[in-house]
Amino acid sequence: MNNQIDTTSLMPDLSSHRLVYAPYPSLETAAQPFPPDNLAYRLVVSKNMQDLCLQHRGLGIAANQIDFDAAVFVTHVQSEMITCFNPQIHEISDDTVLMSEGCLSDPGLYLKVKRPDMIKASWEDESGARSQATLFGMDCRVFLHEYDHLQGILFTDRVGSVKLKAARKKQSTRFKSAMNRIIDNG
Ligand SMILES: [Zn+2]
Repeated sequence: MNNQIDTTSLMPDLSSHRLVYAPYPSLETAAQPFPPDNLAYRLVVSKNMQDLCLQHRGLGIAANQIDFDAAVFVTHVQSEMITCFNPQIHEISDDTVLMSEGCLSDPGLYLKVKRPDMIKASWEDESGARSQATLFGMDCRVFLHEYDHLQGILFTDRVGSVKLKAARKKQSTRFKSAMNRIIDNG
């Protein structure tokens, strides 16, 4: 054992990575910190993940969702898409809000999830510089959803079993009617 971290294993070519769907091991595993070196690689990761987010019309996407083991996600702050490396949460409001959420890794499933109304958070950008912000509303919600992904926590873990079962039923009805539309249209 030595204390040098081998970062080469954390630098795959992300262009071959695709969205994975629950249940999937990477979705249930906490991500490793993003290595501090190789800033050029951060730019490539940021571009790849923002492209995927746009392609799937997501509000955010976390590395675990493309089976990439590193603490990085894409989110929106004041309608601007940003990539957050090694995010941290410093303060959480006591006030919570219940709001409907979806997840790219579980299509067609919508759950009302209770989350804090406000957080103070920080993250590193592509240059390695750390930014800090107070996030409210949707900015706060998406950040927390993506932050959860990096801990291996899914939005389905944030609701009770009865609520989840009812939502799964609706999800399966949605799939069936979508399949029927495909069959009807030949
Ligand atoms: Zn998600």
